[in-house]
Amino acid sequence: MSHLFQTYSRWDITVKEAKGSYLVDENGKEYLDFVQGIAVSNLGHCNQAVTEAVKAQLDKVWHVSNMFHYPLQEQVAKKLTEHSDGDLVFFCNSGAEANEAAIKLARKKTQKKNIITFTQSFHGRTYATMAATAQEKIKIGFGPMLEGFHYLPYNDAESLQSFEGDDIAAVMLEVIQGEGGVNPAEESFLEAVKTFCEEKDALLIIDEIQTGIGRTGKPFAYQHYNLSPDIMTLAKGLGNGFPIGAIVGKKELGDAFSPGSHGTTFGGNMLAMAAADAVTTKIFNEEFLKDVQQKSEYLIEKLKTELDVPTVKSIRGKGFIIGIECTEEIQPVLLKLQEQGFLVIPAGPNVIRLLPPLTVTKAEVDTAVTKIKEAIYAVSTVNSKG
Ligand SMILES: *Cc1c(COP(=O)(O)O)cnc(C)c1O
Repeated sequence: MSHLFQTYSRWDITVKEAKGSYLVDENGKEYLDFVQGIAVSNLGHCNQAVTEAVKAQLDKVWHVSNMFHYPLQEQVAKKLTEHSDGDLVFFCNSGAEANEAAIKLARKKTQKKNIITFTQSFHGRTYATMAATAQEKIKIGFGPMLEGFHYLPYNDAESLQSFEGDDIAAVMLEVIQGEGGVNPAEESFLEAVKTFCEEKDALLIIDEIQTGIGRTGKPFAYQHYNLSPDIMTLAKGLGNGFPIGAIVGKKELGDAFSPGSHGTTFGGNMLAMAAADAVTTKIFNEEFLKDVQQKSEYLIEKLKTELDVPTVKSIRGKGFIIGIECTEEIQPVLLKLQEQGFLVIPAGPNVIRLLPPLTVTKAEVDTAVTKIKEAIYAVSTVNSKG
């Protein structure tokens, strides 16, 4: 029997090694990987620069605690703030911890209680972030929930405008919902969010855990819009597979996170910082991000022409977070693709989510589209008639 809690229903694949866009399983079968550890390995698996940076740090010092000065933390924090609207960084170890810190900071700074989040959001699995997540299915059996969270429909400016409540510390959202179905926010909705925050004197928290670190072709996804978050939260892509999380906040929030107010033993650990330093050097580069945008346009265009079939309802997303919404359950397509050596994950029952490494090549994109098309045709009876 397995000695693990069965919190995941796992695929029937055991990975032996991984490099760039590819995984190899224990039987030597190769997979083109458009999951990348769920939007984590943005530079592909075992990226050389990141691997070398972590290896070099391994021989120097791993961990001494935040009682000491960490020049690497300053260096990574500087880059995160230079490429965003924030000024101050707090490092932690995961996405949920980053959102947890953001929620604590917002309440402490504003001295207000309520946080507004949106339907189909995903913010994590700890008590605060589970409460923030407006999806009933992840909360079943875990009550009572943390108080103060209010859920409004995503992309519905009117509901927000007519919301009566007060004492609002923050509005928290993903500008492209990842787990919830690859749902991009509409510009008019984001304008309404901005106005709402101004009127209610509430902080704007953008959850960039899945969309940040170049995933959408800009350093952070909110930069596609006319927004300036008070706090943004990061994790997944920041360490390219090394566990790390962070919040980036405006300097006005500095007094709320004073010595002793918040902390974590491992946060900002030197190995994680070495990884993040290498990642941000590579990704916060105009040429690199331009290349991501061009390859993304190529992929989306190609998907739209090749998947012009009755079972494909829409293709949406930005950069390299792309959803293919189907009219049928997609599980059979995913399994067919696995057989064919191509990995993707769902975002809900009907959406195929593509998260290629930002370093993907056009040839790999071509292979991916061909395989998706073949799999969709193979499992569907509708398309072949059409
Ligand atoms: C993955 C994710 C989280 C949670 O991050 P963990 O590292 O799993 O705790 C939170 N928000 C978003 C948008 C995510 O995609």
